[in-house]
Amino acid sequence: MSILKESSIDQDFALLDKISEHEQVVFCNDKNTGLRAIIAIHNTTLGPALGGCRMQPYKNLDEALNDVLRLSKGMSYKCAAADVDFGGGKAVIIGDPLTDKTPELFRAFGQFVDSLGGRFYTGTDMGTTMDDFIHAKKETKHIVGVPEAFGGSGDSSIPTAAGVLGGIRATNQMLFGKDDLSGVTYAIQGLGKVGFKVAEALLEEGANLYVTDINESSVMKIQEKAQTTRGSVTVVEGNDIYSQEADVFIPCALGGIVNDDTIDKFKVKAIAGSANNQLLSEQHGERLTQKGILFAPDYIINSGGLIQVADELYGANKERVLLKTKEIYSVILRVYKEAELNQITTMNAANKICEKVIENRGKRNSFYSPSTKPKWDIRN
Ligand code: NAD
Repeated sequence: MSILKESSIDQDFALLDKISEHEQVVFCNDKNTGLRAIIAIHNTTLGPALGGCRMQPYKNLDEALNDVLRLSKGMSYKCAAADVDFGGGKAVIIGDPLTDKTPELFRAFGQFVDSLGGRFYTGTDMGTTMDDFIHAKKETKHIVGVPEAFGGSGDSSIPTAAGVLGGIRATNQMLFGKDDLSGVTYAIQGLGKVGFKVAEALLEEGANLYVTDINESSVMKIQEKAQTTRGSVTVVEGNDIYSQEADVFIPCALGGIVNDDTIDKFKVKAIAGSANNQLLSEQHGERLTQKGILFAPDYIINSGGLIQVADELYGANKERVLLKTKEIYSVILRVYKEAELNQITTMNAANKICEKVIENRGKRNSFYSPSTKPKWDIRN
């Protein structure tokens, strides 16, 4: 009897240990709609938590919990790097996005978000769409990234692409001592919403590009675009993109593209693109450093979209967003310089800078709460 009791106490603490880096983890259950979700708030030192909501058919609770804990912590770093006065949060809905979505399910999710009283703002992520959050927004004002017609700020790929271009300029500055986009060769993987805009801008600057996309129409469109510019496009097939003799590789499609298979293929001097979680593991970041390949931390170079949704809460303003997105250039450059100075990976340098931002702010104003928020804060 006593053994059983002790082991159940151990398990309870195991869960608390697991969430010990987080301020708050909320398990949401709504029998009528079938909603099962977890909201994780990692750190609100910089402001209320902000992070998207994923929907995925997780195999079990542990998988969903691990995902939401990892992603919400990542958002604390991303918000710190982007200087947006938000903390890190994330939500996951356990379910199949193809079969389990209903308007009522998202309204129920919206109610749970509302119950946090402004400590957590959310919007779309993998498996959820802007339309889903139109339903959630009927229950709470703490939703970002809905269509412009519903008060949102629209296509986030515009500032994301602008931020990537700023990050590439910083990369060129570090590599070649000049931050022009021209005179450099690039290999772009993915010509979707972000990659296409980046490719177009580089062509306008007269750059030579190697490109690949599984979608042939995007490839054709960029070839047509090249005809009207001083730049050039060479189309390569699938995985051949990793071994091109370019200066900078720009991943704008998939995560995990720096892995055991690709690392020996790279002939580039740097990797700087929008894809999330480009390093399969921390160790792959170290191997890039050993190879002398500069790596622009993805969560910083792709933060233009975050800057845009964060800005919605002050009344969306595209000009302000683009101005703030320009700061990505200096943040990336600072990361490169600190990594070089301290002989560490750029990812480690980025993380240290972000941790310092949170620590310093915490000394002044350590805990965000809607009831103690400053008077100028109009977010609620
Ligand atoms: P998207 O879906 O519009 O574009 C992705 C493109 O990659 C598509 O054209 C697709 O055909 C192509 N693609 C998929 N698999 C490929 C493969 N194996 N080889 C070559 N091409 C392939 O997405 P997006 O909005 O342009 O985002 C691109 C990346 O940037 C994603 O990883 C996304 O998570 C990340 N990101 C986007 C934003 C944003 O604001 N859109 C913000 C931050 C991060």
